[in-house]
Amino acid sequence: MIDPFGRHVTYLRVSVTDRCDFRCVYCMPEHMDFLPRAELLTLEELERLCRAFMRKGVERIRLTGGEPLVRRDILRLISRLGAEVGRGLRELTMTTNGSQLARFAKDLRAAGLHRVNVSLDTRDADKFRSITRRGDLSKVLSGIDAAQSVGLEIKINMVALKDVNEEEIESMLEWAHGRGMGLTLIETMPLGEIDGDRVGQYLPLSIVRARLARRYTLEESEFRTGGPARYARVAETGGRLGFITPLTHNFCESCNRVRLTCTGMLYMCLGQSDSADLRSPLRLSQDDALLDRAIDAAIARKPRGHDFIIDRRHKTPALARPMSVTGG
Ligand code: SAM
Ligand code: SF4
Repeated sequence: MIDPFGRHVTYLRVSVTDRCDFRCVYCMPEHMDFLPRAELLTLEELERLCRAFMRKGVERIRLTGGEPLVRRDILRLISRLGAEVGRGLRELTMTTNGSQLARFAKDLRAAGLHRVNVSLDTRDADKFRSITRRGDLSKVLSGIDAAQSVGLEIKINMVALKDVNEEEIESMLEWAHGRGMGLTLIETMPLGEIDGDRVGQYLPLSIVRARLARRYTLEESEFRTGGPARYARVAETGGRLGFITPLTHNFCESCNRVRLTCTGMLYMCLGQSDSADLRSPLRLSQDDALLDRAIDAAIARKPRGHDFIIDRRHKTPALARPMSVTGG
């Protein structure tokens, strides 16, 4: 799949559910209206869609959400897709909040997953509860232990929040790298209605990077994933440090990804509202010809880049849909 700007689309993110057992302050409001279950694609339909994308050249699939591990029977989909790793797929990965990881780690590894991104913004139990509004840090930490013990490679994703966890970034880096895990810092993005004030949470990673550079040697790294992350190697720890700055445009020209929601909508750009309905062609016919045409038409509409803007006066989101719908 080649879009109008010559970019090869080889990476698919699939949000398998919009539901979550946490309510992170930057992601959703406390009282979130989740989709009625009847609107969700079945696991078989999600698999059929993934296979259609694989036939068209997708090499990497990341399962996300909401919280992917709260979707019932999700292991069934993971095993089916995991069986394609090394054949149709180069890699199957997942982004999770880690709350159920202790229970699932062994099965995930057995199903063909090699790497998991775990979102963890703080290692202070009280702060963790207040950021996630209900999470239990000890469960996530045991999940990470379990995942490492079965040989899953872990990367920690940490959203940098002004005045909340900014003082903890160095210790998180030492901890993650000390355990052989990469750390990626994420700038907050203006997606979806939340209860709080986004502008107050926003901490530019340029500031964080400058602070870290006083203490550590950040060596530029050529490592790229085709996404909005830029990586450095920290000479003192030997670990990898990523910076995701989605409000800048410096990653759009190499964007290789599209995002599928659990209702079958395809978003061609995280920062634009245009989407394509794949559920109708999926359900209209068991033959994939219609679906293939709908995918081609969607890729032909992939925009050059996003236009995120934080509205500093009105504090409104740039896009109404939260990250839990398009899956980060
Ligand atoms: N529930 C899983 C988790 O938290 O890892 C997967 C879905 S979550 C939407 C994926 C990632 O998006 C998480 O790392 C989360 O921290 C991040 N995220 C959510 N809302 C965000 C926002 N408004 N700005 C930046 N990152 C956000
Ligand atoms: Fe749930 Fe992940 Fe959103 Fe937190 S960031 S509320 S864990 S979907």
